[in-house]
Amino acid sequence: MARAAAVVHSAEYYCDIGAHVFPMEKYGLLRQRLVDEGRVAAGDILDPGPASREELLLVHTAEYLDDLDHLRWTRRTMSSELPLTPEIVRAYVFAAGGTTLAAREAVARGFGVNLGGGFHHAFADHAEGFCYINDIAVAIRALQHEGRVRRAAVVDCDVHQGNGTARVFHADDSVFTLSLHQQRNYPEPKELSDLDVGLEDGTGDEEYLERLGRALERVWEFGPEIVVYQAGADAYGEDQLGGLRLTLAGLEARDGLVLEGCARRGIPAVVTLGGGYARRFEATIHIHLVTCRLALTLARGAPPAPDGP
Ligand SMILES: [Zn+2]
Repeated sequence: MARAAAVVHSAEYYCDIGAHVFPMEKYGLLRQRLVDEGRVAAGDILDPGPASREELLLVHTAEYLDDLDHLRWTRRTMSSELPLTPEIVRAYVFAAGGTTLAAREAVARGFGVNLGGGFHHAFADHAEGFCYINDIAVAIRALQHEGRVRRAAVVDCDVHQGNGTARVFHADDSVFTLSLHQQRNYPEPKELSDLDVGLEDGTGDEEYLERLGRALERVWEFGPEIVVYQAGADAYGEDQLGGLRLTLAGLEARDGLVLEGCARRGIPAVVTLGGGYARRFEATIHIHLVTCRLALTLARGAPPAPDGP
C-alpha cells in the first residue's frame, strides 16, 4: 500500500446555514492547511460529484429524498436542526458523493480521506441533528452494490451516538457498527449498534483508549473489508456540545488505534470528519488535521508500530 491516500474535497461541502454552532468553513480551511503543509498537492485533491439518485436510494427512501428535492418541511425533514435550502441539500448530497469516492479510492490505495462527511444522525427516512444524508451508509451500500466489498465496519468515535447509521445497518449482518460515545448526550433515545460503548460524563484519555482498544478487537474479529471511521472532533474536553475530557494527545492516540489498526491488518480505511464544536475553532481544525495527517502518513507505507501487548 505504498501509495498516497486519496484526499477528497468539494467546494460544495460549504453551505450557508446562518448563525450556527456547526463551523461549515472547516472543510475549505482543512483543505488549505493540508496543501500549505505540503501534505497533498492541490491538483491531487479529488473533487467528487454529487452522489447519484441510485446511490442515495440504496439507503434513503424515495419519499424522504422527494421531500429534500422539493424543500418540504414534513415529519421526515422537520427533525433536522438546520435550515432546508437548495444549497444545504446539495452540500449533503456532495458529502455523500465524497465519502463514496474516498471509499472507492481506499479499496484501491489503502486510505481515503473525505474532508467532510460523517453525517451519522441521518436515518433512511428522516433527518436528524445536523444531518440530512447519511454519507457513511451511502458509501458502504454503494461499494457493496458495486461488488467492491462485502463486509464493512463503521468505527464511530464522535461524542454523539451514530444513531442513524446504527438503524440503517441494524438487521444487516454484512456491516458491523461500533459507536463510542458519551451516554448522557444527544441523541435520545439511542439506537442499537452492533457494539455501543456509552461512556460516562467526564471520561478521560486513559479509560477512553482502553475501552476503544477492547471494542476494536470486535471489529477486527468481524473481518471487515473496509472500515469507515467517523473521526468526530467533539470528544475533545473543550467541546461545546460534548462532555468527555479527551485531550489533544488522547484524540491523536485514538486516531492511532483506529487507523494504525487498519493499516497493520491491511484493511482499507476511510476517514470522515463528523462533528467538532471546540470553544476555540482552531482546536477543531487541529484535531481534524492530525487525523488526516496520520492517514496520509500511513498510506505512504510508513511502517506501522509493532502490535502492543
Ligand atoms: Zn457529534
